[in-house]
Amino acid sequence: MFSFKNEKRRVKENKIIVVGAGISGLAAAKDLQTKGYNVTVLEATDKIGGRIDTDNSLGIPFEKGASWIHTPIGNPLTDLTKQTQSNIKVTDFDDTVAFYNDGTKIKSSDYWSAKKLFYKQHEQIDMYGKKNESYADVVSKYFESMRNDDLQKFFIANYVTFDTGETNKLSSTLYNYGEEYEGTDAVITNGYEKIPQYLAENLTIQFNTKVHTIDYSLDKIQLNTSNGSYNADKVIVTVPLGVLKKEIIQFKPDLPFEKKQAIKNIGMNHVNKFIVTFDKCFWHDSQFIILTKENPNKYSWYLNVNKTHENCNALLTFAYGMDAVESEKRTDNQIKDEIYNNLKKIYKHQTLYPTNLLRTKWSQDPNTHGGYSYTSTSTSMKDFDILAKDINSKIYFAGEHTSRDYFSTAHGAYLSGKREARKIIKLLRTSNFKL
Ligand SMILES: Cc1cc2nc3c(=O)[nH]c(=O)nc-3n(C[C@H](O)[C@H](O)[C@H](O)COP(=O)(O)OP(=O)(O)OC[C@H]3O[C@@H](n4cnc5c(N)ncnc54)[C@H](O)[C@@H]3O)c2cc1C
Repeated sequence: MFSFKNEKRRVKENKIIVVGAGISGLAAAKDLQTKGYNVTVLEATDKIGGRIDTDNSLGIPFEKGASWIHTPIGNPLTDLTKQTQSNIKVTDFDDTVAFYNDGTKIKSSDYWSAKKLFYKQHEQIDMYGKKNESYADVVSKYFESMRNDDLQKFFIANYVTFDTGETNKLSSTLYNYGEEYEGTDAVITNGYEKIPQYLAENLTIQFNTKVHTIDYSLDKIQLNTSNGSYNADKVIVTVPLGVLKKEIIQFKPDLPFEKKQAIKNIGMNHVNKFIVTFDKCFWHDSQFIILTKENPNKYSWYLNVNKTHENCNALLTFAYGMDAVESEKRTDNQIKDEIYNNLKKIYKHQTLYPTNLLRTKWSQDPNTHGGYSYTSTSTSMKDFDILAKDINSKIYFAGEHTSRDYFSTAHGAYLSGKREARKIIKLLRTSNFKL
């Protein structure tokens, strides 16, 4: 017979540990705690948020990880922005001014017809694509113009490599997978950090607690960490795919073979961001400034931060793939020089030298090892489901890389945390019923 007394006892007795205080871990912990479960979050660093990380040191938010709420209509993060009184501003991707590498302005009509052509060809890649063949393979076989035209190369770098992964590793059949909501991408002008802060309220989080081993061979699960040992009845592992790939956490017994394969098969890309400030604004009053280049994988796309934060005199730019990895070896001054020299092509003698630079180094971050997951030539969509599978109803997995529909995004990560909390709640309710 169902007994509420039993249910309460069950809820109290079950100890649940969530590994990682990113948005997926926090979402899971919040839902479990709301239902009365005894939850502790173990976090390797001294802060919450993981790949949602707002640096306010320049007086404006520099989003080191997620900055956009992608397609906000229907996106679950939009509701959270309302609950957290976050200020949302749509970024207008059409508000763009583009330049050739010698600084000559690209005529607006040429830019728009090139963009139309890019999308047309991009949508056709999977018609020619084959399993194990990369996006770049198909481009070089069938779309000569995409390979040789600087504007087409710009679109590939900033719309494909940025969102997914390097095109020579990106699947030519799965590159377009992943669901979207509706509406135009928006940024949170008073900081994306508000979302993890809201989710973390009243949670028990042990900081500077890096998990080294998870032993689930006995009834109680044992976790060894840099900050002592813990035990639990259920564990939700939310560490990034890059951390799983590096086998930083030892599982005892080892992870099932299919999970290890899925970890290998799904790609982890590389992306870095750079914000530079100047004594005054010398650039166009448009939302985006484009410099087409021989190598568009770094410093070719500039987001005019003045459009979201008036008079801050800041530009945001990016590096992708091996150029992102390579950027991490450069000093701040070398990066500033490179950005300055790029802008000089467009703004010639008006260009000022950057006063401040903030940057990311996601690839060498020991708790991330990369940017976000993507469909590589070895990936099958089933791999995302395998990553989301629990082991023996003891070890659960969440994180952006476990979301077949919304992998690589903050909302995908959020939903995955809620999914795992729901699974545990359902399981414990059912087992309570059997008592
Ligand atoms: C440069 C960049 C730009 C992005 N832009 C966008 C965007 O505009 N919009 C969007 O929707 N998404 C974006 N994303 C993706 C989004 O940020 C992520 O998908 C999401 O934040 C991942 O959340 P998560 O909970 O899965 O992982 P994480 O946020 O990485 O959380 C995992 C946590 O686990 C911790 N951890 C790791 N190892 C251990 C260990 N051994 N023990 C204990 N703790 C550990 C980490 O420190 C971290 O706090 C971007 C990501 C990057 C890197």
